[in-house]
Amino acid sequence: MRQSHLFTRTRKEAPKDEISKNAELLIRGGFIHKEMAGVYSYLPLGLRVLNKIENIIREEMNNIKGQEIKMATLHPSENWKQTGGWDNVDVLFKLQSRTEKEYALGQSEEEIVTPIAKEYANSYKDLPVAIYQIGQKYRDELRTKSGIMRGREFGMKDMYSFHATQEDFDNFYEIAKQAYFKIFQRVGLDAKVTEASGGSFSEKLSYEFMVLTSAGEDDIIYCEKCTHCANAEISKVPEGNDCPKCGKGKMKKARASEVGNVFDLGQKYPKSFNYTYKDQNGEEKTPFVGCYGIGTTRLMGTVVEALSDDKGIIWPESIAPFAIHLLAFGEDEVVSEEAEKIYNNLIKNGIEVLFDDRAENSAGEKFADADLLGIPLRAIVSVRSIKNKGVELKKRTEEKGRIVSLEELLKILTART
Ligand code: ATP
Ligand code: MG
Repeated sequence: MRQSHLFTRTRKEAPKDEISKNAELLIRGGFIHKEMAGVYSYLPLGLRVLNKIENIIREEMNNIKGQEIKMATLHPSENWKQTGGWDNVDVLFKLQSRTEKEYALGQSEEEIVTPIAKEYANSYKDLPVAIYQIGQKYRDELRTKSGIMRGREFGMKDMYSFHATQEDFDNFYEIAKQAYFKIFQRVGLDAKVTEASGGSFSEKLSYEFMVLTSAGEDDIIYCEKCTHCANAEISKVPEGNDCPKCGKGKMKKARASEVGNVFDLGQKYPKSFNYTYKDQNGEEKTPFVGCYGIGTTRLMGTVVEALSDDKGIIWPESIAPFAIHLLAFGEDEVVSEEAEKIYNNLIKNGIEVLFDDRAENSAGEKFADADLLGIPLRAIVSVRSIKNKGVELKKRTEEKGRIVSLEELLKILTART
């Protein structure tokens, strides 16, 4: 894509009321647009990142036999009344129609997915089934100061699994947890998992996936040596103590962002909707249910918080809006001709490239924009690079570049995709 064609622009300042780093950098880079507190639109660059995050999640959910659907986000109030959520879920947005009918906006989808599963998965032969979607959620959150990490409208992947037996559920719960680790690793984050009680959702066991960042809203206690980790509120072991699991490390306290979680919902929702299945003996049994969430937009915000420096964002390769940022420097015609040639060559080879072909911007402005946008690789075409028969290639995190030929550049880029 040509930067001269991109309708968004970078800006020097973020809105005054925006205090979080993720929103500041994403707004300044033109990735997102703020509509009001807790509500953002995703612009071309931001949508490319979000789509990549979603596709990684999609791949891993499909790998564990999840089936993707798209559920309604405008919900009948009856379903929420049936589970008690209408009166008990404080973040539920409730709407009143001019016909006096009431609706809820989807803040989670148990109320919708359970009746769907009831209709189709009603024999032991139909179970287990794991159903997921990736889409918008709406929550009447009291505070939204963390940019896209806590929205009133936000993106979530939510999966729901239905099982004939507790054992089958337990098995899948572990498989889903492993898939979650893979997802966070693939988007460039090091996630720790805490064990926590399910809170209002259920009394059963839940796991929260936490990424260390000062921008998070949770406090965790974790072992510096092994994987042991707990929410600070419920941890039995205080900071500074020896790890109860490995005995080798000390327990440390830190702020973290909850990027995902998995819940053992037991049989609550099937019971609310009188959902039973027929077992091998023709007897009616109640299925066991789990739910599995990942905040897709919170994940994007967490990446920005965890992986940026004072100049801007540093996207991991896997979710960067483009694989490479090609910059043409100077007004020399030889430079623009050479840069055009390289751009066309990269496009022909299926490389995702953002080409800063803007004629009116200085080298300094182009550098600053490239640092802010955070594309992991940068190739500069200048009189000097042409003299050296190549482009100057530099990682976003490197101070100095090196000259590589076009062939070498293509080799590097195709090896990555
Ligand atoms: P939190 O404790 O942060 O409010 P939650 O326990 O309410 O999260 P869930 O209802 O389980 O979260 O939602 C699943 C995931 O969706 C969370 O792990 C988080 O990543 C994301 N999420 C929850 N609320 C928001 C929000 N308001 N904005 C952005 N992402 C959110
Ligand atoms: Mg919440």
